[in-house]
Amino acid sequence: MPRFITDACIACGACAAECPVDCISEGDIYEINPEVCIDCGNCEEVCPVQAIIEK
Ligand code: SF4
Ligand code: SF4
Repeated sequence: MPRFITDACIACGACAAECPVDCISEGDIYEINPEVCIDCGNCEEVCPVQAIIEK
């Protein structure tokens, strides 16, 4: 299952910097493209507010 970013996101950018396939786009809340995500878990590990979940 691809990862999903919830409303808890504070837009710090840490996840996007760690994504190996560059599928996280910037915004008020960052967003993961589920078509491209390879479910590696890097983003979830670095998120300071646990905003990234498996869906
Ligand atoms: S799980 Fe991996 S591939 Fe998917 S968005 Fe997070 S860092 Fe990118
Ligand atoms: S690491 Fe977490 S808080 Fe930071 S941009 Fe990504 S989802 Fe949002």
